[in-house]
Amino acid sequence: MAQSCICPHCGNSFSVRELPFTQCPHCGRELPDALVAELESNYVPQRPFSLSLQMYAGYILGLLMLAALPWAFQPVDTSILEQLGIPPMMTLPPILMGTLSVFKTAFLLLSSRQLHRHDPRSRMTLLLMVFVFTVPETAMMAPMLSGSELGSIIFATSAIIAILSLSFAYLYLYHWKAALRYYGTLEYLRERGRDRV
Ligand SMILES: [Zn+2]
Repeated sequence: MAQSCICPHCGNSFSVRELPFTQCPHCGRELPDALVAELESNYVPQRPFSLSLQMYAGYILGLLMLAALPWAFQPVDTSILEQLGIPPMMTLPPILMGTLSVFKTAFLLLSSRQLHRHDPRSRMTLLLMVFVFTVPETAMMAPMLSGSELGSIIFATSAIIAILSLSFAYLYLYHWKAALRYYGTLEYLRERGRDRV
């Protein structure tokens, strides 16, 4: 919730939605340092709705993947792939698939935890998570897929999905207005906290 406060100069009330907040929006005069410090220490960051959604989705999916980790190291059932017309050699060794699952799970849970704690590092973790979910598998499958026409189509599709996902995540986290405001405030609070120590 945005907190309300009264300007000591003009007596008008105002609410603080984002930081830094050092001037009264009514009379434009500088607020006393003590008041600014109080506003900052009481400030609760407002996570954009879509990032909250990502946080819960990350927790749910991360926990499901954590529960399924023992199976991630099992060989893939190739009979399903054969029915789809995909040759069985187009699957990664179980140890690679399993290791990748460990990384995916870790990034899902870590990014949600950081979002939960209003940790500004969640921005980089989310971007790395999208990378881990899209790039390594595509890259490791590339040599296996290059042989056939179907393989080339699968490779091209996953490569395009990887590029689109990464571009979207980058634009969303580093250029979208609500994310800029949220992370700008978190960075500001972190720097102010460091100054006080
Ligand atoms: Zn004022």
